Amino acid sequence: MKRYKTDSLFETGEVDSRLRGNDIGVSCSHIIRVAFESAADTEFDYLVPDKLWPIEAGQRVEAPFGRANKLEAGFCIEADVPFEKSFAAGGKGRKLKIVSNVIDKGPLLDAKLMELARWISGYYVCPLGQVLAAMVPGAVKKGAGVKTQREVYLAQGVEEAIERDPAKREPKLRGKKQKQIVKYLQQNKAFDSESALELQGLLAEIGCTNAPVKRLAEKQVVRIIQKTILKSLPAIPAGMSIETDRVVLNEDQQKALAHFNAGIDSGLFGVTLLHGVTDSGKTELYIRAIELCLQKGKSAIVLLPEIALTAQTVQRFSARFKKIAVMHSGLTAAQRNVQWQKIRSGEADVVIGARSAVFAPLSNLGLVVVDEEHEPSFKQDTAPRYNARDVAIKRAQLSNAHCILGSATPSLETLFNSRGKKHFSVVRLPKRVMDLAFPEMKLVDLRDGFYTKEGISLISEPLAEHLENALAKGEQAILLLNRRGYSNFVFCPSCRYTLHCRNCDVTLTFHKSPPRDSSRMRTVTGKHMDYGFAVCHYCGAQTLVPEKCPLCGGGFAMIGFGSQRLETELAKKFPQARISRVDSDSMAGRDYYRVLKDFSQGRIDILAGTQMLAKGLHFPNVTLVGIISADTCLYLPDFRANERTFQLISHVAGRAGRSVKKGIVFVQTFLPDQPAIQFALKNDFDGFIKEELKHRRACNLPPFWRLAGLIMRDRNFDKLQAACNAMREKIDDIIKRDNLKITVRGPMPAVINRIQQFHRMQIIIQAPEAETMQRLFASLRASLWRLRPAVKVAIDIDPVNLL
Ligand code: ADP
Ligand code: ZN
Repeated sequence: MKRYKTDSLFETGEVDSRLRGNDIGVSCSHIIRVAFESAADTEFDYLVPDKLWPIEAGQRVEAPFGRANKLEAGFCIEADVPFEKSFAAGGKGRKLKIVSNVIDKGPLLDAKLMELARWISGYYVCPLGQVLAAMVPGAVKKGAGVKTQREVYLAQGVEEAIERDPAKREPKLRGKKQKQIVKYLQQNKAFDSESALELQGLLAEIGCTNAPVKRLAEKQVVRIIQKTILKSLPAIPAGMSIETDRVVLNEDQQKALAHFNAGIDSGLFGVTLLHGVTDSGKTELYIRAIELCLQKGKSAIVLLPEIALTAQTVQRFSARFKKIAVMHSGLTAAQRNVQWQKIRSGEADVVIGARSAVFAPLSNLGLVVVDEEHEPSFKQDTAPRYNARDVAIKRAQLSNAHCILGSATPSLETLFNSRGKKHFSVVRLPKRVMDLAFPEMKLVDLRDGFYTKEGISLISEPLAEHLENALAKGEQAILLLNRRGYSNFVFCPSCRYTLHCRNCDVTLTFHKSPPRDSSRMRTVTGKHMDYGFAVCHYCGAQTLVPEKCPLCGGGFAMIGFGSQRLETELAKKFPQARISRVDSDSMAGRDYYRVLKDFSQGRIDILAGTQMLAKGLHFPNVTLVGIISADTCLYLPDFRANERTFQLISHVAGRAGRSVKKGIVFVQTFLPDQPAIQFALKNDFDGFIKEELKHRRACNLPPFWRLAGLIMRDRNFDKLQAACNAMREKIDDIIKRDNLKITVRGPMPAVINRIQQFHRMQIIIQAPEAETMQRLFASLRASLWRLRPAVKVAIDIDPVNLL
């Protein structure tokens, strides 16, 4: 074996002189490759002191980094790199530094997850170290909820010796307490570190101080060890009760299950789109498929959009699976760590969670389910900008597992794949379970609406009338307004002045009460609450609304509407009703679970809020659903606006009439002729898709072509523009050099061209296939490494919006 002596390296000036005392003469026999969590888009080799060996790939180390040799944490991505292949060998000739510490006892990620990380790093153009860092929850890295405790056990052989010849051993155990302790350990079979007893508990049981144990340890009769354990934690809050009777699957469901069964059984990779209308029994099918998977000794992951991870869904799964782990934002850091450790140790074989649960460290994966696969929230909006649905497919492929993508309104991408791509198939559930009728859909044209001095009334007459009736019958209602705050403009009618954010290029939203996350505002809330705040939904900046327009001295008007205004109007119109508002201003995760519980138990009549309400809820007593403004999405300058509108209406409508009581849905809009709204009203998914695909094909948009967005930003506009032009040139060079079929647009100002005082420009890239896009970015990546210091660049592959 090749041996390296660090003192020879020191003579070459490579080892920092501060390490002199510790590291001269340290013998090292191994080299590892490290990817750092800081954004360095390159990998480094280090020598490992023999006393730190072995290290495995997936374990974190601390090592001196950069010119200043600052200690940084990084993942070992390859253990035992042969010298000839290391960066120290041959022409590369880099001198190696030495690893300082090993952080983790064992690897945090196994070989399959490391492979997945490499794929993400390549596909989403993100440094490997950053990807790896994102794959392990912060709570796990920090060791949240971990404590150390002292434990004690009988030293090997002692217990037999004592039993065989107690007389001989007698002098060793002089004290009465000492004898008691040995006896107690014997009785409880504490013979090794595994079976050791917790020291404090033992002392309390026997009723003595530390001293006798200490003496026993000195005489080597017992051993005291330090163990790190997870604090025991209260269980995840329980929600409403759910019927868990085994239903009899209908014919469509049985066919679908047989298909999944074959997929899991084959031990081969495959993807099935489960296209089933709301309430067609998709969730029930996921559960059955997981049962089959567990029977075959394999594990499963279920991904849901964060907002659908309510106590209701979680309970439904928990009732059916014993060894289940849950990962969502409603958990404390310590709870999250406990859940992750459960998965790692094999104590859990089913994981249900939001986006990042796709990285759950399960071994022997057999099934990955992505529910509501069309949801844009599966896309992470910071680096690594991955889409959990697509990562789920890749993970299934690497594990030879089956992947189920479920939705009532599949994304155009998934539909497209399922119609032609290898490994993809579709099963459909066209009917609601137990022949539930689809709710009746009613269009309300807001242009005929009547106006109050605050603008248009948010609750039209027909909606108000039905709401009144439903309440009188003791039924419940859900009202959805897809916008936070009270009104979305603060506007002076006489001079047309509008309040804008001073940091961003957007208008401010009027809030009657401050948003929940307003740490900066806390000091003044008491004094000014009665009037209101103008809040920027992009950077969070807020100001008190001035009483008069600063330009002309006139009074302000609030234009547009948000969930706070809806709540106020409801309270005025239905003073007797119990109303609760649900949006990200009014509640954190745990409050949200509480409100849903109250609603399911009939303590709330009307639930009003943002799209948090559109997903995964099952309330049999809800007979009325109102979409206050169906066209909020349509005003966004995004090619997916139609798709989002159709999805929103379909899903919210799915909340109505989930029982024998017939449901009714009111869709209020200013754009009643808009095709997305018309198709949604008729519940005509296929019609909508046909129409929408025509547009997409004509414009070379997804799902036909691939899209990537580059957002570049800087405070200095001239500098930004120069950097953008250089980037465009670089892209054009590569396209010309490699003769790639790619369309480039921009640089142009981004839709929101300033956020937090940073100017924003974008370049949009379209390619006919993923491979072409990948070739461009692989080449661009090397030059980006050099461009990076100039301005901030965010690369978004397969963006879900272009804001
Ligand atoms: P989806 O996920 O498609 O909205 P669910 O699986 O949640 O549908 O099913 C809706 C409700 O119908 C649940 O309460 C579920 O227990 C019940 N259900 C599912 N399949 C059947 C069936 N075959 N017969 C009766 N009830 C069913
Ligand atoms: Zn702002």
